[in-house]
Amino acid sequence: MKRRDILLIGGILLVALVLFLFLQLGKQPGAEVIIRVDGQEQGRYSLSADGSYSLNSGTNLLRIENGKAYMEEANCPDHYCMRQGQISRTGETITCLPNKLTVTVSGGENFAEIVG
Ligand SMILES: [Zn+2]
Repeated sequence: MKRRDILLIGGILLVALVLFLFLQLGKQPGAEVIIRVDGQEQGRYSLSADGSYSLNSGTNLLRIENGKAYMEEANCPDHYCMRQGQISRTGETITCLPNKLTVTVSGGENFAEIVG
């Protein structure tokens, strides 16, 4: 094997490694959820602490458990938000259309620093 070949293979491996790390980073579990009503931020809750939170003056009840968030109760007629299941990864969202409420997973400030 020539020195140039080794460098080439090394280069490809490095690119693959960087790509792999980048993909892993994108899949990172979120740090918190952001609650928005009608597009306005209402609050943030950490995914690392279990708890139930009353949202939007009690129209929706959010449950955080084992790093995952889901809608436990809602007064909307379709209950579609409750059927959207658990979210835990950055960018995932639960939407309650009748109440104009969204719950979005965010990576938190540390994540923003890494990604830029
Ligand atoms: Zn709903």
